[in-house]
Amino acid sequence: MSKTLSGVGATPLAGVGTVRWYEPTIPEFDRESDDPEAERQRFVDARDWARAAIDEERERVAERVGEEEAAILEAHRQFLDDPQIESAVDAEIEGGATAEAAVEAAFADPIEQYEATGGRVAERADDLRDVRDRLLRTLAGVEDVDLDALPDETILLAERLVPSDAAGLDPDRVAGLATVVGGRTAHAAIVARAIGLPAVVGVGDPLREIENGTTVVVDGEAGVVIVDPDEETRTAARTEREIDVIDEQVATADGRSIEVAANVGRPGELEGAIDSGADGVGLFRTEFLFIDRTSPPDEDEQFETYSEALQAFPGERIVVRTADVGGDKPIDYLDLPAEANPFLGDRGIRRSLGVDADLLETQLRALLRAAGTAREEGDATGDLAVMFPMVADVAELDAALERVDAVAAALEDAGEPCAIPELGVMVETPAAARMAPELADRVAFLSIGTNDLTQYVMAADRDNDRVTTLHDPLHPPVLRTIADAIDGGHERDAWVGMCGEMAGDPALTELLIGLGLDELSASAVTIPQVKARIQETDTEAAEAVAERALAAETRSAVLDVLDGDD
Ligand code: PEP
Ligand code: MG
Repeated sequence: MSKTLSGVGATPLAGVGTVRWYEPTIPEFDRESDDPEAERQRFVDARDWARAAIDEERERVAERVGEEEAAILEAHRQFLDDPQIESAVDAEIEGGATAEAAVEAAFADPIEQYEATGGRVAERADDLRDVRDRLLRTLAGVEDVDLDALPDETILLAERLVPSDAAGLDPDRVAGLATVVGGRTAHAAIVARAIGLPAVVGVGDPLREIENGTTVVVDGEAGVVIVDPDEETRTAARTEREIDVIDEQVATADGRSIEVAANVGRPGELEGAIDSGADGVGLFRTEFLFIDRTSPPDEDEQFETYSEALQAFPGERIVVRTADVGGDKPIDYLDLPAEANPFLGDRGIRRSLGVDADLLETQLRALLRAAGTAREEGDATGDLAVMFPMVADVAELDAALERVDAVAAALEDAGEPCAIPELGVMVETPAAARMAPELADRVAFLSIGTNDLTQYVMAADRDNDRVTTLHDPLHPPVLRTIADAIDGGHERDAWVGMCGEMAGDPALTELLIGLGLDELSASAVTIPQVKARIQETDTEAAEAVAERALAAETRSAVLDVLDGDD
């Protein structure tokens, strides 16, 4: 009998495959044993197994990523063979502990000591925990999952994924992803959508009951995980849905042109954007160029990346966002301080104007050089635009614009190709929405980031399952804030787009057109449906829907408006 579990659809695609749990939790274990010899043998076997697994991983990482990254695994190997830990394990086993309890006890002191040292050395405690957990999982017979070596047709289940984990998944192999926690706008969900991986997030406790080896369907369109599906459901999930791609720019039924651009995080996603008929890129999340490595990309590497994006879309606009580091996007080598509320902390432009000023300068140099080079090539490449994330204060924008001018002056002095691209601001904070006219006075465009804007207007964390109903842009205060930002931008002749996940929901396209947006930027997989909706929309009817939605007092009243029930 098949069983259906509900969650939140993150990617409107379906996949079928065999379940593998990522980072399985360590099962409960017995703590006492009266057979020290057997326990000692279990420990030795587990250690041999873990050693072989680390060596294999080390080789693969050295080959694919680099020696520096592989060194972390070398350190793991040394911890595994540490004589002090081994003698502590022996002593515990002699005292009547099981191998699991002995491992746990033997690692406790060194972990505590590293933690007490503080600073970078304290990070070694995490490595020790990794090694300890690898041993405990091996002892429990729960295998490690290597994301790079998953068999074809794997459905990955996880408690939650971080963006760098999701980015490491290969959609040609992994047939789908489902998580216990997480919402549609969590960055791991965004990454899954960007790489076209069927995904359902926030399924909750019932997901934990699915065992490795079970066949499931992940249906991101319906937002469900189907356990032990019947043959018909499997076949339907395997059949690629035919979606008509519309390559040219579209207009509403009454002739108003709306640009539909793509959100991308890595150069590898450009191809998917082209294939889905995107009119350029509306949000290039450049912080993804900085994660998953041990040092930031240098100016030339960034120049190449931005130039590649421009070449991918001749005659179209590529909106690059300067790195939005912080919040839920930590970058190990930048040593982000622990903050009680990272979403309200040192994030986005705050870091770029502060601790990461050098990174901003390098990024701006690369961007202005790419813009200059592209301009020389005319329509053979795209037009660069650059926007700043997390602006909350007009003074921040002024400071960022000064940095742009300073970088341009330095490049010109050095005789380098250079052009100042079209500049814009993301409206992700209520403060920016409130100051939309003043911001729009200074730049060419505003782009509304509804993922953050919703969390800040509703005081509801985008990653916290307990408040997902509040984290919904259809709440009237969010809609009204969006409308104010659009009107404020237009009042000062800026064009206004939207690049939050709301822009990619075809069920909301009419409402967004009615609110007056000029551009929608969405994950590649949703672009064909959004374009089709635009062509069906009549602007006057859309404006009437928007007016009724803005007058509504609750989210459910807004839903009634959208259903035509008001
Ligand atoms: C947003 O906040 O809506 C946005 C597009 O930025 P990100 O999701 O990367 O925070
Ligand atoms: Mg944001």
